[in-house]
Amino acid sequence: MYYGEDIVEEVRQKTDIVDLVGQYVHLKKKGSSYFGLCPFHGEKTASFSVSPGKQIFYCFGCGKAGDSIRFLMEYENLSFVEALEELAERANITLPKEEKRDKGEEDLRYKILEINKQAALFYVKQLRSEKGKQGLAYCAKRKLSGESITHFGLGYAGKERDSLYQYCKSLGFKDRVLQESGLFSFKENGVYDKFFNRLIFPIMDLHNRVIGFGGRVMGDGEPKYLNSPETKLFDKSRNLFALNFSRKSRANYFILCEGY
Ligand SMILES: [Zn+2]
Repeated sequence: MYYGEDIVEEVRQKTDIVDLVGQYVHLKKKGSSYFGLCPFHGEKTASFSVSPGKQIFYCFGCGKAGDSIRFLMEYENLSFVEALEELAERANITLPKEEKRDKGEEDLRYKILEINKQAALFYVKQLRSEKGKQGLAYCAKRKLSGESITHFGLGYAGKERDSLYQYCKSLGFKDRVLQESGLFSFKENGVYDKFFNRLIFPIMDLHNRVIGFGGRVMGDGEPKYLNSPETKLFDKSRNLFALNFSRKSRANYFILCEGY
């Protein structure tokens, strides 16, 4: 998506950089500027400055500098457009919509997101229920802490073959969109949940929205790991499990692992 210079300027003008940076860094006023500990390099004395007059930040320690958009890009590891969109939302500015995606397509994506969200909550509840005991026991065996289970939103799909389907139907979702979600197999003799008897890992995009799932089978079933198929939301070549969390880490390295 391309945004014109005037809309970019409007977002800049309606964003107060002191307000924005202040959400992430503890700032103290000194003369006409504000100072705090630089979020981009480790330091004990404040050499990171924000100028309300010029609406820029500058670090005397590491030299990082820029405007509000640049700050968000650096801090949250966002692209220019992503940072712009986030700041626009924060400032209540409506950005011009992308023309080429038609409304029906947009609605469908929105509905799939909603199904994924409901499914994730359903799986979480199952893990905490009587049925989820086997899943929790497996987590304990793999030494996953309760904190990790909660943090990553792990869930459980029970042994029934259509409990998620029945649940989604009870929420009023139509077969047409359920089919697009990739969570169900539509067969001649009925509709079945793709995930059953598995520990469930929700896969989220950078905005913490659930776009797919991975499931580890309980016991020796095959396949050991099952993933959602690609859907209108889930592009496997563009997503990494837990990237939404690691993006916010202030560490200057990543450890890339196979599996979940
Ligand atoms: Zn710095």
